Amino acid sequence: MDEKLVKKRRIVLVPVPAQGHVTPIMQLGKALHSKGFSITVIQTQYNRVSSSKDFSDFNFLTIPGSLTDSDLKNLGPVQFLMKLNQACEASFKQCLGQILKEQGDDDEIACVIYDEYMSLSKAAAKEFQLPSVVFSTTSATAFLCRSVIAKVNADKFLIDMKDHELQDKLFPGLHPLRYKDLPTSAFGPLESIPRVYSETVNTGTASAVIINTANCLESSSLARLQRELQVPVYPIGPLHIAASAPSSLLEEDRSCIEWLNMQKPRSVIYISLGSLALMESKDTLEMAWGLSNSNQSFLWVIRPGSIPASEWTESLPEEFTKLVSERGYIVKWAPQMEVLKHPAVGGFWSHCGWNSTLESIGEGVPMICRPFTGDQKVNARYLENVWRIGVQLEGELEKEDVERAVKRLLVDEEGAYMRKRAIELKEKLESSVRSGGSSCSSLDDFINSFKDE
Ligand code: UDP
Repeated sequence: MDEKLVKKRRIVLVPVPAQGHVTPIMQLGKALHSKGFSITVIQTQYNRVSSSKDFSDFNFLTIPGSLTDSDLKNLGPVQFLMKLNQACEASFKQCLGQILKEQGDDDEIACVIYDEYMSLSKAAAKEFQLPSVVFSTTSATAFLCRSVIAKVNADKFLIDMKDHELQDKLFPGLHPLRYKDLPTSAFGPLESIPRVYSETVNTGTASAVIINTANCLESSSLARLQRELQVPVYPIGPLHIAASAPSSLLEEDRSCIEWLNMQKPRSVIYISLGSLALMESKDTLEMAWGLSNSNQSFLWVIRPGSIPASEWTESLPEEFTKLVSERGYIVKWAPQMEVLKHPAVGGFWSHCGWNSTLESIGEGVPMICRPFTGDQKVNARYLENVWRIGVQLEGELEKEDVERAVKRLLVDEEGAYMRKRAIELKEKLESSVRSGGSSCSSLDDFINSFKDE
């Protein structure tokens, strides 16, 4: 490590307590640790990462919050985050102050890196005059969308977003995104969106923005974002390739790997809708019958409680359950990275969360895209229209569409072309994190930026 960095060698990470945010920030921690930094993770008491053997060199501190069981159960994701930020702001400041009091001469804090939705970090970092850095776990394009939406006329935006006729039209300045692809749902009432976005994209006190993406995927969005933001933007991903770090908050069922070992190469469609999405009962049935009619094998992750009025899979029809024993496998949570790497997997049906998107491209696996909320719609549009390695299922889900999409990916020639393109992208992603690659250099630039302080 560089002499000038020796004194300031601790980095404080502040994750959002949700799987899709914890995973990349812990990978970022690994990447920075490998460059000689000590890592302190300040986390809330909700959904904590354990100090397992994979992170035995990290220091974990937990701050109290005052959220009730009812908050945890009933609040939507963004309302939860807003309340969490309020509830933990004071304890975060106290915790950071304590670290500063106790830090040794050779272990000073270089900066606080906080998840873009953990704005509680801003005030404390400012008060203690520590550089603070925003970490975005979404794509650069989704970040750009938030930045554009935060600036447009809020009244006109609300009228446009409610106009059905506009929904299939391109949104000005965000080609190829349409009005309906904008990351606007899951954020409570539409009216609150411009305000929520101006809060998250407000990099006012931050000294930089780190994004888990690569230039080869989003060069034009990155270039534009760099022009729009007042601070340097560092695309340093995909972090799961650069610095893999197992950080599953749920127990992985590894028996599905044994099942995959018995399947033919590229014969299985892997289905997972991430850690938060909830299925509609009707959609679940259409999926089940579509899979059944496709005659293809499937590995399906169904999280307990993700189908309404059902503890797990009991609402699936008996006939379908019989089919599962013939050519399917259902688990509550899978070791996704290992599944996507497996030669038997020929396609990934995904909700298009950004981590799942990067992981699938990183293994050269084409996708069926069925986004639910937020940035997933942006990712789905890019998968189908820009990278052309995905088939998007839009509108009402019908079993015939499911059957056709699965066959397009696993059986038709079209699927083979998509796979070829996905493999080309995989190779580009791998080179971007290698020495001399754009993401690797960007991480070095970020680290070197401390020397100027
Ligand atoms: N994941 C997993 N096992 C599963 C389903 C998902 O390990 O059965 C992981 C997946 O590898 C990814 C994360 O959970 O890293 C989901 O993040 P993503 O951004 O795709 O979606 P979110 O859960 O935030 O909606």
